[in-house]
Amino acid sequence: MDLRVIGCHGGETPRHRTSAFVLDDRLAIDAGSLTSGMDLKAQFALEAVLVSHAHLDHIRDLATIADNRQNRVPPLVVAGTRPTLAVLKKHFFNNLLWPDFSRIPTLRRPAIRYLELVPEKVTRIAGYEVRAISVNHTIDCCAFTVRSADGTLAYSGDTGPTERLWQVLGETTDLKALLMEVSFPNSEARLARVSGHHTPETLARDLKKLASSKELPTLLYHIKPSFQAAVERECARLTGLNLTICALGDHFIL
Ligand SMILES: [Zn+2]
Ligand SMILES: [Zn+2]
Repeated sequence: MDLRVIGCHGGETPRHRTSAFVLDDRLAIDAGSLTSGMDLKAQFALEAVLVSHAHLDHIRDLATIADNRQNRVPPLVVAGTRPTLAVLKKHFFNNLLWPDFSRIPTLRRPAIRYLELVPEKVTRIAGYEVRAISVNHTIDCCAFTVRSADGTLAYSGDTGPTERLWQVLGETTDLKALLMEVSFPNSEARLARVSGHHTPETLARDLKKLASSKELPTLLYHIKPSFQAAVERECARLTGLNLTICALGDHFIL
């Protein structure tokens, strides 16, 4: 599996982009920076986007990628749980904030097509076996496992300390890597707790619920730009884990 980091931050500046990752050029995980971080050719190559939750930093470039793709390529599959899709329909592609691209340019060939994911249930998307696992955030949010013939990639979504994800990953024998959120420094533990995010301290405690975390390549994302240096410093001090901090443009072969 070929993993490209399009956006890996919990905020935006000219040097930071919000969450978006692409597998084998055809499956995106979250849509925070799919158009600000990819040229048209790469945008057109996508078949589907997995949406972890409806927060703006994970969905906002669905607006612009839908616009760019209309009448050029087949519909983009937008896959998420029922509560996530409900927010997209009611508050985003609602013909007020933005057109309903699930109905235009034509009903027969719209720019996007919704696909509902049921947590825990495997769904086949763009040639992968995708499973959503509920995690612990301020709104409905899920992690994903994405399996291909090469193995499984896991993505945490936005989450604070959680349980079920670690059980599922513990049972995943072909797990290659985990994209894992960490957002705030330890000094902002309260803010992390009320906003459903990790600090390096809570991250280390949670990762240790997984027996293989010592070796498992764990790719950290969602650091808040204004706390980047502090979070990186604190992560560098964690021991007994296999951590890498994602950077824009990173390309991993899993
Ligand atoms: Zn969020
Ligand atoms: Zn977020």
